[in-house]
Amino acid sequence: MLVLKFGGTSVGSVKNMTNVKNIISEGGRKIVVLSAMSGTTNALVEISNTIKDGKPEAALQQVEALHAKYIEVVNELLTNEEYVAETLQYVERVFNELKQITAQPHSTLLYNIIVSKGELLSTFMFSRFLQQDGIKASLVSAFDFMRTDRNSEPDAFYIKQNLNRILDANNDTQIFVTQGFICLDADGKTSNLERGGSDYTASIIGAAVEAEEVQIWTDIDGFHNNDPRYVHNTDAISHLSFDEAAELAYFGAKILHPQTVMPVRDLQIPVRIKNTMEPQAFGTLIDDKAEGEGIKAIAAIDGITAIKIKSARMLQAHGFLKKVFEIFEKYHTSIDMITTSEIAVSLTIDDNTFLNDIIAELEEFSKVSVDTHRTIVCLVGNNIVYHPDTHKLFQILQDVNIRMISYGGSNNNISLLINTSDKVETLQKLHRYIFEMSLV
Ligand code: ADP
Ligand code: ASP
Ligand code: MG
Repeated sequence: MLVLKFGGTSVGSVKNMTNVKNIISEGGRKIVVLSAMSGTTNALVEISNTIKDGKPEAALQQVEALHAKYIEVVNELLTNEEYVAETLQYVERVFNELKQITAQPHSTLLYNIIVSKGELLSTFMFSRFLQQDGIKASLVSAFDFMRTDRNSEPDAFYIKQNLNRILDANNDTQIFVTQGFICLDADGKTSNLERGGSDYTASIIGAAVEAEEVQIWTDIDGFHNNDPRYVHNTDAISHLSFDEAAELAYFGAKILHPQTVMPVRDLQIPVRIKNTMEPQAFGTLIDDKAEGEGIKAIAAIDGITAIKIKSARMLQAHGFLKKVFEIFEKYHTSIDMITTSEIAVSLTIDDNTFLNDIIAELEEFSKVSVDTHRTIVCLVGNNIVYHPDTHKLFQILQDVNIRMISYGGSNNNISLLINTSDKVETLQKLHRYIFEMSLV
């Protein structure tokens, strides 16, 4: 069994949906996970924000504008009258619900219900589009199997039991179409796997059905060696190990949701990234093999807070670090980078929910300074800590202010902490020093 996930651009127009149909109509039985059409989740978030701002009439107008767009898509995508009528009716139902919601008070649950509609719409339309062509396709609701537990982690046992029961009950089906991103929480309420979560849905499903491979079909020809939104001349990487991909995704490579690799890594199910608009391109294969030499890729993540904790005597004072770490543990706040000296420890967090409480407790025994709006730049490759070319990256020290460096924590990762305002320059210069200067 293959699991194929198609992102927002891949289902963002009738032309691209036709590409998707061509890609999936060959080969054996498969599960197809779809995102919302590109722009839809952002539009739904916007509607939710307008409701939150106390402007129900403006929210209603936004709902109506989106509704009009979907009526157009249905009429362009489907030709069979029966399917057109059925799908327009479904679309009408979804938008009537959204219209009623605009009059309700804002809450997290309301937000979750609103943003779930994008994937519900795209999968309904696309499953009818396949059926119209005589393809044996079934629409499976993610709400019938995708669920998180009390820790907001996927409930692997529940998902496996329920998904496999659905697959077994539909022996005739060739293509199962389901929604990415959306799920139920432990109380059975509408929830989601956070923005970009359809990739994660695909790998959770891949693990549940022990798929041969999970394919992430997107709008670019694979995992690139730097962020193409900020750097020209980036190249697709043909192979990454699970660890390399996990590290890059965690540190900001938008192409994969940060958790995507986790469910499939232990089962050694490969993940392949492919371009829907260019299916013949090789893409990127992610599996358990570590290969290649030197720095392979660079990624960056914003929204980082650096905390410097200073004590008169640190290393000679036993238990100082333990006291520091216990405070972060108490507030369930994980630490990403850490450096120490004799008198101070600097560390970074990406979740400021409990920042004030953490600072207050640290100040009971140390002097604390906090810098927000920092960015971690992460460089990844096989054994890069030992590679003879790795020194090239340190040319960056002459260009930008580096606040922290983490080198040697693992052999495969080097992280730099910089000001977010220096991010683009840092990514571009590192690209030149590491990937382009070696070519001349
Ligand atoms: P989808 O809607 O298919 O999930 P996303 O927009 O979430 O697509 O992810 C693909 C985008 O990720 C690319 O178009 C690109 O702009 C961005 N991106 C960021 N870093 C990378 C990278 N290292 N390699 C490839 N794409 C990246
Ligand atoms: N539609 C959701 C989003 O835009 C999930 C996804 O596309 O992966 O975040
Ligand atoms: Mg995505």
